[in-house]
Amino acid sequence: MSGVRKRNVTKPSSQSVASKISKGSKKSSSFSTPQLIGIVSALVLGILLFCPLEVFDFFLAKNQKIVRVKYEVPEFVPTDFVARNEVEEESFELYKKARIVDNEDVYDSHEKVSWNDFNIRKYINAGRVTNKKDAYKTAAFNQLVSDDIPMDRNIPDTRLGSCPSQEYPSEGLPTTSIIITFHNELRSTLLRTIVSVIRRTPANILKEIVLVDDASSDPNVGMELIKIEKVKLIVNRERQGLIRARIRAAMVATGDTLTFLDSHVEVNRNWIQPLMQRIQQNPKIVVAPIIDVINKDTFKYIGADAFLTGGVSWAMVFRWDWLTQRGTSTMDHTRGLRSPTIAGGLFSISKAWFHELGEYDDQMDIWGGENIEFSFRVWQCGGEMEILPCSRVGHVFRDEHPYDFGKKGSNNVFVKNNNRFVHTWMDEYTDFYYGTRPNAKSIEPGDLSVREHFKEKLQCKGFKWYLENVYPRQYVPERNSVAWGHAKRGEHCLNVFPTKSNKSGVYGQLGAANCNQGLNNPSYQDMDKQQLVLKKFTGLFQQPVQMKDGKYVNKCFGTPDTTPTDGAKVILADCVSNAEVREANSHQRWNYVGTNIKLEDFPHLCLDGSDLGSFRVRTCTGSDSQQILWEMLNI
Ligand code: UDP
Ligand code: MN
Repeated sequence: MSGVRKRNVTKPSSQSVASKISKGSKKSSSFSTPQLIGIVSALVLGILLFCPLEVFDFFLAKNQKIVRVKYEVPEFVPTDFVARNEVEEESFELYKKARIVDNEDVYDSHEKVSWNDFNIRKYINAGRVTNKKDAYKTAAFNQLVSDDIPMDRNIPDTRLGSCPSQEYPSEGLPTTSIIITFHNELRSTLLRTIVSVIRRTPANILKEIVLVDDASSDPNVGMELIKIEKVKLIVNRERQGLIRARIRAAMVATGDTLTFLDSHVEVNRNWIQPLMQRIQQNPKIVVAPIIDVINKDTFKYIGADAFLTGGVSWAMVFRWDWLTQRGTSTMDHTRGLRSPTIAGGLFSISKAWFHELGEYDDQMDIWGGENIEFSFRVWQCGGEMEILPCSRVGHVFRDEHPYDFGKKGSNNVFVKNNNRFVHTWMDEYTDFYYGTRPNAKSIEPGDLSVREHFKEKLQCKGFKWYLENVYPRQYVPERNSVAWGHAKRGEHCLNVFPTKSNKSGVYGQLGAANCNQGLNNPSYQDMDKQQLVLKKFTGLFQQPVQMKDGKYVNKCFGTPDTTPTDGAKVILADCVSNAEVREANSHQRWNYVGTNIKLEDFPHLCLDGSDLGSFRVRTCTGSDSQQILWEMLNI
């Protein structure tokens, strides 16, 4: 592949091996004096002469001696970035720091056992809780239930259509390194993830399982697992967050492809073959399974809908979009679903392509936004993304993050992560993000030079191209609007109730209904009954209506009479435009003041939603029924 960074996987020199041994011995509790360190180093060096591939390092883990095998981290060759100033220099240093993994931090065991010879009971028992109160403490899902579910339990085969009868080549598919990062994961969910991977992945595809313990409070949770076949462990001495943890794993992994998983999943039957097959056909494709649901309270495995693709709101929040065509029997489930974004937790990619793309943004912290960033980058830089419905992986979804986000709090972390990629990838469309999240402007994204470097190097396309070619169903807001999108009155959304006949030039009545979340709504077809706009300059308050010829035309909200009175209904009608007579449309010109929508020429009259089925104009009172909050402002 052109432009792929050269990766040197030759072994480090014996000098670095020697320095490593003495460093490693320091940690050992049995050899604590400097003198002994020297002796041990010499001894191990002696062993090295006869057995150059294995260097032993002894340490204790939970009263159990694990004999550790030295692991050679493949050499890292940084990208050809040239810093132009100190700030960029610092970014480049961070970039490198995030990608250099010390051999010392990678653990593997010399006494490997198959998963069913591993002492599962002992491993789980070491972390049990006894009462209901503590069941959700560690992971925000039910530990009492999880700990008692077998590691090799059967789960329903949730694949549809002809997926179960698909046959895959038993040889010749790419190998994969499974990457699982975790911070304070439950022993049972982590081990069940690993066991399901080993049991349900053909051995000739499963190169290794790279675990990253992201500074969990109990180091034994990960360390005890290195005895299991194919498992390696990277230990982050300091918490790095999901994004940097995954970068570190990718630097250590040696498979043809990388497969990222969360630490609380169960892979389903023949899950990996469709993913590998697709990457073999197209090395620049990023593929994801359908994410089935493991209930966080009962751990019941439930098949997820097969008619969803990944999308994103203008707030940069991931969402699922329904396919316009849905039908189990009519759909060919063996075909990939082109997906504008991926949920992020579970996917496979060629290792070379992941590195060529610049892995992840190492200045993103803890969790969040990296999946959207990655999606934009993959598409804009010449790749593709698909969900493969024949591949199924169950994931324990939970309502909140059980872990700490640091001093600044989770919201600041999400917003900073988002701001970084919004600036890198969205061009002038950043305005729509800030229009949705005005407060996000106050948080600095930091220096983006290294990310821009990859964008240039890969000659990535702009966001307009992405919207037109990858995500054409995304609503593009109307510029020059004071307010746009969904508008909320309490928890309901402003909604037009159409009239049966349009003959009179009246198309509907304004009211409020349950928010349909736009594209996320199963009944969504073309335009949205909750899609509104309040225009700058003209003050027109509008919604698109489909005309007889199929085209959409903006119609105007206003009172039926040109001189509105308290209590008059608000209807959607033909816009009255007569530039010479200003009063001609004073019943259709509005202002957004504070949180009120007022008639510009009758500022004592506010849009009022006391009656959800029929909004009216009423004397402004400041009551809740007159407070309207918009999705997007001032764009
Ligand atoms: N994770 C991590 N370091 C962190 C936060 C999360 O390694 O600082 C891991 C976490 O244990 C999990 C994965 O990243 O395996 C995704 O996190 P989580 O499950 O909380 O995200 P969600 O599934 O809710 O999107
Ligand atoms: Mn998760």
